[in-house]
Amino acid sequence: MKGSLIFQKNMPGPFYTDSECIACDTCTSIAPNHFRLTSNYEHAYVHHQPKTESEYKKCEEALTTCPVGAIFGPKPKSGALSK
Ligand code: SF4
Repeated sequence: MKGSLIFQKNMPGPFYTDSECIACDTCTSIAPNHFRLTSNYEHAYVHHQPKTESEYKKCEEALTTCPVGAIFGPKPKSGALSK
């Protein structure tokens, strides 16, 4: 049984990472303004939540690209922000 934990370091908001993260550095490369690795490179976390549509898109791209599904957020497009 898995016991994934949401990292406390995530800025409160729609996107967050959990303990499935393997610190592969993908999200931090795709959206460095929003995702960052901890100083000991243990895991990624959201340090800045998106505000604009283009920022949301970057975060969604990181979410869908994460190889282990450790990023969570609003459902992509199709009006997810208002539902
Ligand atoms: S892409 Fe996923 S596994 Fe890789 S650092 Fe980001 S949250 Fe962690």
